[in-house]
Amino acid sequence: MIADKAIVCACEDVTVADLDEAVARGFGDIESMKRYTGLGTGPCQGKSCLASAVRYCADRADLPPEARVPFRARPPLSPTTISAFAGLPESIVRHRESPLQPQAARPGPHPLQPREPLPAHASVVIIGGGIMGLALAWNLASRGERNVIVFERGYLCEGASGRNGGGVRAQWSTPTLVELAKESIDFMARFAQELGINVWLRRGGYLFLAEDEPTLRRLEAGAQLHKKLGLATRIIDVGEACGIVPELDGKGFIAASWNPEDGVVFPWPFLWGYADGARKLGARIETFTRVTGLDVEGGAVRAVETDRGKVRADRVVLACGAWSPSLASMAGVTLPNVPYRHEIVSSEPLKPFLGPLVSMLGSGLYFSQSMRGEIVGGMGDPEEPPGLNQTSSLRFLARYSRALSTLVPRTSAVKLLRQWAGCYDLTPDHSPIIGETPGVSGLLQMSGFVGHGFMMAPAVARRMAEWMGGAKDEIFERFNLSRFAEGRLEKETFIIG
Ligand SMILES: Cc1cc2nc3c(=O)[nH]c(=O)nc-3n(C[C@H](O)[C@H](O)[C@H](O)COP(=O)(O)OP(=O)(O)OC[C@H]3O[C@@H](n4cnc5c(N)ncnc54)[C@H](O)[C@@H]3O)c2cc1C
Repeated sequence: MIADKAIVCACEDVTVADLDEAVARGFGDIESMKRYTGLGTGPCQGKSCLASAVRYCADRADLPPEARVPFRARPPLSPTTISAFAGLPESIVRHRESPLQPQAARPGPHPLQPREPLPAHASVVIIGGGIMGLALAWNLASRGERNVIVFERGYLCEGASGRNGGGVRAQWSTPTLVELAKESIDFMARFAQELGINVWLRRGGYLFLAEDEPTLRRLEAGAQLHKKLGLATRIIDVGEACGIVPELDGKGFIAASWNPEDGVVFPWPFLWGYADGARKLGARIETFTRVTGLDVEGGAVRAVETDRGKVRADRVVLACGAWSPSLASMAGVTLPNVPYRHEIVSSEPLKPFLGPLVSMLGSGLYFSQSMRGEIVGGMGDPEEPPGLNQTSSLRFLARYSRALSTLVPRTSAVKLLRQWAGCYDLTPDHSPIIGETPGVSGLLQMSGFVGHGFMMAPAVARRMAEWMGGAKDEIFERFNLSRFAEGRLEKETFIIG
């Protein structure tokens, strides 16, 4: 036996006792242990601790041998300065293919799949254990719905919800999205009281930089709307922006939009809090359980087929993010959502210096400082082809490093440690698809949250649970699937990346 004070991960100070606690709380697979304890996320990038973590799993009789599967290695291979990436030759910046190919999907059920039988029937089946599905499960269970089941094909945090930047802002260009985000951020501030886990909301503000006049006009229009809706957004000049973030090179932009009440959360506890809360109220969250088919009969959804068997269902909610179109097609429904890879990277930890999340609306560069001191940031790529691609590329590191070190020259010497990617779930008007499905009664849509679902989830899920309980709510008309066929688009323009 390893002594419980023994250090498993020296970078993040994770002991055997910490792993015991993770397992006791249900984080029994190594990907989840990593997220719960921080194991393998420090400067050694998991190289020193992985063997001890696998040995720990092997020593525990209650963990199946499959739990010893190593966590996914994240590039870069070793900590490398931003200036080194920024100086890479053009041929690499132009090269779009990732040298790292995704692992081939294993045939058959996931080795960590639970053994217990599934119930024969559920009143609501939610497909997808991302923030949307879990927040909805908790809201339904809180309203007294006792027969809710969520199917997630991987561990919690497997999809975009576990891979995002955690930015939460009310600066949007339509009143509805402003309202949804405002309610959601207020809920995040009370999350620990409501759900017993801290999501580390830090309201350091959002600073949108405009590099040209057309972008500034958009920010000004946004600020006017925000004022009407009671937000604190102001347009500020370069001098004031550099007062808020002194490390910015003021030559890179002409003005900024500033809302000091926006912020950043730590994504993973947000999912775990909803999952735990839903379980305590009787909902079942079935991880490592893949939905493989939907039974539709007489124009209504009747059952959900999984790789653990079939569950009859009165209502089925599609909350699969970027995978929603493939699930919808199992019911003969076509969704207009298109997945696009978005890459993101974390630096070595630095002393706190950066209050807000900073974003260049034009280039799509964004970055903030995490509570652990890392600079976490990303940048969209106009040449990214559509596809369910979650690999990482050198092209992204080069483009991001150039953009960041130009805007914040002092970051050049900072080392990048860990890079990953997730998929934006893009709709034609950048607004979500929520509500009923024409032609298939009982099949409800909850997808299309592009790059902002994380900050909308609490309010959308509350309203969806109430609407499913019979309340009238116009957002389920306005943002329904029929709008595309009817030509009623709800264009949102404040998209980062
Ligand atoms: C790099 C990046 C940065 C982002 N930054 C931000 C940000 O700063 N702020 C913000 O608000 N949003 C951000 N987003 C967007 C945000 O993460 C998403 O909008 C949100 O997480 C979507 O949640 P979801 O529950 O709809 O989807 P997901 O979290 O993707 O969940 C869908 C789940 O469905 C599961 N699934 C798929 N197929 C099946 C199946 N057959 N059976 C069972 N389960 C299945 C998947 O495994 C997945 O876990 C970012 C996204 C990315 C990729």
